[in-house]
Amino acid sequence: MIIVMKVGAPEAEIDQITTDLEANWKLKPEKIVGQYKTVIGLVGDTVDLPPEQLQEMSPWIEQVLRVEKPFKRASREYRHGEAGEVAVETPNGTVYFGEKHPLVTIAGPCSVENEEMIVETAVRVKAAGAKFLRGGAYKPRTSPYAFQGHGESALGLLAKAREASGLGIITEVMDAADIDKIAEVADILQVGARNMQNFALLKKIGAQDKPVFLKRGMSATIDEWLMAAEYVLAAGNSKVILCERGIRTFDRSYTRNTLDLSVLPVLRSLTHLPIAIDPSHGTGKAEYVPAMAMAAIAAGADSLMIEVHPNPAKALSDGPQSLTPERFDRLMLEELSIVGKAMGRWPQQTPVLA
Ligand code: PEP
Ligand code: MN
Repeated sequence: MIIVMKVGAPEAEIDQITTDLEANWKLKPEKIVGQYKTVIGLVGDTVDLPPEQLQEMSPWIEQVLRVEKPFKRASREYRHGEAGEVAVETPNGTVYFGEKHPLVTIAGPCSVENEEMIVETAVRVKAAGAKFLRGGAYKPRTSPYAFQGHGESALGLLAKAREASGLGIITEVMDAADIDKIAEVADILQVGARNMQNFALLKKIGAQDKPVFLKRGMSATIDEWLMAAEYVLAAGNSKVILCERGIRTFDRSYTRNTLDLSVLPVLRSLTHLPIAIDPSHGTGKAEYVPAMAMAAIAAGADSLMIEVHPNPAKALSDGPQSLTPERFDRLMLEELSIVGKAMGRWPQQTPVLA
């Protein structure tokens, strides 16, 4: 943190500020006297110090600048610049998310509709190389009259699909009261875009140890998103995966959101956490998903989340952005595998479909 004093700030005022900073905040202030202005550099742990509060110390303070980032555990420096990884236990062994590991594909329908469709989708996406099955039991819908998910009974169906396919399961938690029963079935807990800043939920989800898939809020800045991750990390759960799913912009004529792929290099420099991209919610249209999925791998994504439905035209939610299993096969085997191999991120064995 740096305090910039106004031109002409009296010497006694500057001394008083440095004395107070030492006494009240246990910081080591270092004074730099320029030709017109004096600057006070604060050495010490200033993560919890609100710049606005320091600004109030004297009318002679021009501005207070934060040099370090407010997120500490999520920061890249926290691991001394090293890439992080999140290990997830699945019925088929441990799957690692992270910069040094192969791309992890998560696929499945927006919501779990019935046993047949979820088991069929699981088996199909597994054969194409997915490592996790997604599917909402509790759905955050804009309209209270839209399909809200089958809730607890859908968790039972996810358990059946897990057993039938050997895939890990990821599903959304909307209410902290549901964490325990969801964690009995899910290998990863998803926090959706609409709950990214539900701090009570983040604290509870941080206090249990299943990995957390934290989607970016639709209007969240990167700092807000990383601070949301910080809530989970600070509560004791270090297994956080970030997921960009498109941000709201002015032009919704052609795409549902604007998929912000620039977060990939930005987050790489800011955080050690693994990064996933969701081109399905990011575009809202199945025909745009393959191009953005390929671009995401090329830009360094560690994971992709893709909606796949056996009959998108009949889907109870997000049909227009869902790929058919046939289209998903082609995407994995003919498109993503080429980019994945070029980037050195494709799983060793490319599955061969019967
Ligand atoms: C979803 O994954 O189905 C979902 C609701 O995502 P988001 O929170 O990104 O809208
Ligand atoms: Mn969806």
